[in-house]
Amino acid sequence: MKKPIVILIPYPAQGHVTPMQNLASTFVSQGFEAVIVLPQYVHKKIIDSDDENIKWVGLVDGMEEDTTPDFFAIESAMENIMPKHLEEFLQKYERIEVCLVVVDLLASWAIQVTAGMFGIPTAGFWPAMLSSYLLIASIPHMLQTRLISDTGVPQHEGKINFVPELPVVSTNDLPWLIGTIGARKERFKFWMRTLERSIKLKWILVNSFPNETKVGLQPSSSNSQHVLPIGPICRPHELTKTLSFWKEDLSCLKWLTNQKANSVVYVSFGSWVNPMGESKLKNLALALEASKRPFIWVLRSTWREGLPNGFLERVLKQGIGMVVSWAPQTKILQHNSVGCFITHCGWNSTLEALEFQKKLLCYPMAGDQFVNCVYIVEIWKVGLRLNGLSQNDVEEGIAMLMEDNEMDTRLITLYQRIMGINNGALLFKSFVEQLKKLNS
Ligand code: UDP
Repeated sequence: MKKPIVILIPYPAQGHVTPMQNLASTFVSQGFEAVIVLPQYVHKKIIDSDDENIKWVGLVDGMEEDTTPDFFAIESAMENIMPKHLEEFLQKYERIEVCLVVVDLLASWAIQVTAGMFGIPTAGFWPAMLSSYLLIASIPHMLQTRLISDTGVPQHEGKINFVPELPVVSTNDLPWLIGTIGARKERFKFWMRTLERSIKLKWILVNSFPNETKVGLQPSSSNSQHVLPIGPICRPHELTKTLSFWKEDLSCLKWLTNQKANSVVYVSFGSWVNPMGESKLKNLALALEASKRPFIWVLRSTWREGLPNGFLERVLKQGIGMVVSWAPQTKILQHNSVGCFITHCGWNSTLEALEFQKKLLCYPMAGDQFVNCVYIVEIWKVGLRLNGLSQNDVEEGIAMLMEDNEMDTRLITLYQRIMGINNGALLFKSFVEQLKKLNS
């Protein structure tokens, strides 16, 4: 008998493709066939190391070869080029073969094709925390109550309780407030479009956990749309190959084995953009060097121009640190030599740190990272927030974290609670059963 097919459409960034791949593998383990659809430029990057349990498809995106597009270039490809190619692709299937399409909420362009034109049951996917989803979902409420203007500009300053169940966040930390005034307006429009299109979604699957409020929020049951926190989505063990956009530099793993337990600072600001200007980069480099602790720093070669003179040679020669372009992050975080993680608080990085019980020194910069940081620092109390990247801030932050044994204890119980009896895997199972019934 033919297996029912689930088509999954991630947003084309590493932090989105990895959880979508995990979700696809989870569907495979439940007897579905999974097909992941990506823009061609990403498909080419990862196809070398294909994951044979999942079918990977690249759609024409109109991008140049070897491109590293920014948010707006990707948006333009997704809005203008990819819809007609998705339409052609879906025409190849018999209508009843595809029982579900899962669309990343940052790729809402696809909803119009899958749910709109083809009428296929479509679920949204939010690869991050339930709280950050609720913050976006509350935009209409924020507009209605004039907390923000029609273009998304906060009308007050300071910390605000935007969503009753959510901890307070600063008005500067709203996810669309990045870059120039023009860019902020465009990002706000992007979220408005996403919300409009999301009306067609039957379910929203969230890579978060449905535990007690002290750990995370309860799912909302606002309208006919079901918001299901089915995470953290763990890949079934037999399907553990993660596809990276870049080649991992494994040399740091060997270096780690020669370091003392809990001594190493791991520094990574995720996969997405060059996170900082030259002066911050310089300060961070000087702080790491002055802290006299071994470190591994993920820094693309094209971003290294702003480093202090002779920095790379000094740290390498003295064996104090390693600077790599792309690290085997989960393997590093698993290592007992690593004592803390300087992070931008991306949700995948946060989950990985919690899983391997590493304390976090947080420097959120964009999107959902601010909300994640509030949970890490104020609710779970397993990390500290850096106010700046001055030498002093970083040195002090590292020292405080490394000495805090209570955080270590909290980390052990936190992950046990997250993965506890009430975990998202059960919710996923009941979702799958519902889906199979609908399809029979
Ligand atoms: N990652 C990695 N090697 C690196 C940097 C990042 O494997 O050198 C992985 C990391 O383990 C995580 C993902 O890339 O799974 C980044 O996702 P996250 O949500 O933390 O941040 P984003 O890149 O989306 O901002």
